[in-house]
Amino acid sequence: MMTFFTRSSGDSLNRHSSFNERRMGGELHNRLEENIRPLIDLIDKLRSLEIQGDLDMSLPTIVVIGDQSSGKSSVLEALSGVALPRGSGMVTRCPLELKLRKVTGGSSWKAIISYRKKNFDVANSSVGNTASSGARQDVRVSYTPQTITFEDPFLVERHVKEAQIALAGDGAGISDEIITLEIRSPDVCDLTLIDLPGIARVPLQGQPLDIGNKIKALIMKFIVKSETINMVVVPLNIDIATTEALKMAQEVDPDGTRTFAVLTKPDLIDRGTERHTLAIAQNKVVPLRKGYIMVKCRGQQQIDDDISLDEASTMEKDFFENHDYFSCLLNENKATIPCLANELTKQLVSHIKKSLPLLDEEIKKQLSEVRKDMKEFEGGPPRDPQGAKQYLINILSEFNQKMQSLSLGDLIMKENMFNELRVEYKKWNDFLNNSMSTFFHPTSRIRQEIIKNRGRELASFSSYRVFEMLLQKHVAQLKDPAIALLNTVKDITFKQLSCLSKDCFWRYPELLKLTMEKIDKIQSSQLRKAEERITEQFKMENMICTQDDIYFKTLNRNMKEAFSDTQLPFCDIASKYSDMLKAYYEIMVQRMADQVPMLTRYCMLKEGVQLLCNDMLTLLDSENVGEILSEDTDIGQKRRDLQARLDRLNTAQEEIDKCT
Ligand code: GDP
Ligand code: MG
Repeated sequence: MMTFFTRSSGDSLNRHSSFNERRMGGELHNRLEENIRPLIDLIDKLRSLEIQGDLDMSLPTIVVIGDQSSGKSSVLEALSGVALPRGSGMVTRCPLELKLRKVTGGSSWKAIISYRKKNFDVANSSVGNTASSGARQDVRVSYTPQTITFEDPFLVERHVKEAQIALAGDGAGISDEIITLEIRSPDVCDLTLIDLPGIARVPLQGQPLDIGNKIKALIMKFIVKSETINMVVVPLNIDIATTEALKMAQEVDPDGTRTFAVLTKPDLIDRGTERHTLAIAQNKVVPLRKGYIMVKCRGQQQIDDDISLDEASTMEKDFFENHDYFSCLLNENKATIPCLANELTKQLVSHIKKSLPLLDEEIKKQLSEVRKDMKEFEGGPPRDPQGAKQYLINILSEFNQKMQSLSLGDLIMKENMFNELRVEYKKWNDFLNNSMSTFFHPTSRIRQEIIKNRGRELASFSSYRVFEMLLQKHVAQLKDPAIALLNTVKDITFKQLSCLSKDCFWRYPELLKLTMEKIDKIQSSQLRKAEERITEQFKMENMICTQDDIYFKTLNRNMKEAFSDTQLPFCDIASKYSDMLKAYYEIMVQRMADQVPMLTRYCMLKEGVQLLCNDMLTLLDSENVGEILSEDTDIGQKRRDLQARLDRLNTAQEEIDKCT
């Protein structure tokens, strides 16, 4: 499978394939194919499912890093058979994802380049003289996906350059927006590699001073991921110890389990350094667990001379075969581009094997989360009128049941409504008790009141009317607080009923709207009704009335000497007026302490809920049940999204199961 695309010449293609087979041997080739193809296909399929966005981990990839001009693009070029932008200085200014896809069945070469084009909308928010230095400009950045398909390999360079200009501007800036270049050809191996901008040692003209750090940060973003294989490109014509990229890779992968190095420019080393260079390639100088592979790509001169990639490949082979020092690397499988391709595939496959259990676990985790989310959106209403009606009956009766439970004090909501009510009722009770202490009339004051307000009575005769009047005045003062309590109770019940409605009907905006209208209407009319009842109660309280038994019981409890109804005429003793007033007030307060809460609870909750339940059922008579059950458009979308996600994950899971 490790054949390489060679421009467009069929002849050179064949030459290349036979070279490859010679190198690898037919049998090994087939065995490799059998073992690795399914795994590479698997990751390929997962990638094409666009599962990436659904997972908290990334798919195994190879990332190419290196210092500027170390030969990254040249290596990629040799691997892919596609000419990439090159030149001196920084040429790769955005991450370039190079997807090599081997196609079968007589398909011809095709490339798809895609990226998200940045659009800058500059909106001037200040009116008037825009040239003034104070003018503020709002720059909004939006993205338009760009996808260009082309069939001429010679256009790759131009399209990549254009994409880079679109993403990183015309200058020397960089961007971390990714460009994806997919190459479909019968002559490439299945690999996905990401080419990253090279690490600049010294900023070029027009580059910000911190460009080095920016590039490093961008590289870091890719190489830290444990699913990434770091392919570090190290040129042999500089001191390996100063290779920044190698240091970075070692930093993120200290055990070296996913880092390996490609040595380039072996033809440019100084005479006399061959032995040392060989030692590097044989992993003896800077030991890496995964070792080194040496390659020779086209130098500038060869490019200028129009040496094709396949010619370059033959030259590479000749270079190593005839090299006094490096020829041994051929037998050790440590040299040439085909060997590198092989190694890359092997690394990738072993990495995929290692990642597979984690990937499997991650997909299972995401699946269970999506299934949980789906539950919330499960079972939308049926489309046929009969089914829709049945559905409405079901959800209405469920809603009514919940309403009833709520009014009975079952704890079905987050907030405990009866607790809230009790707190308010307790406040009412406390208020009444406190009012009792302010209601104290010393006997002397009562006497004065009697003298002042009596009618035809002679002085020294008592007057019941005055007694009554004093009580009435006080009782009347309790009415406003009672109404205030009623309103608080209404707020509490209203809040709970609306919460419950939202809980039950959030998917159906129309039904929710109708329900809220009903709650509002019924609660308002119940509020008016309760207000009338309370007003009526206070009118009755104006009568001053209690049973003799109750009256004496309270009076006697409050006084040392006991009265009985046989003594009735004698207890109208001026000195006892104060106690007598207090006794009645106490009885009245006790009555009101229960009466008002009972009334509010009955009207606002018990009867209110009952009325609401009945009223909800009238929805069943509605002409257009479908409209009542129409769902929030966002919800339909969300359900479709979840379903698509579920499908992707399920397919991914199936694919993984096939491979394990
Ligand atoms: P990048 O910046 O890392 O992508 O480096 P390039 O791939 O653009 O290579 C930089 C320069 O080194 C180019 O002029 C290449 O032609 C040259 N180059 C790359 N590999 C080799 C090699 O093996 N031998 C020689 N002589 N030149 C090479
Ligand atoms: Mg490059």
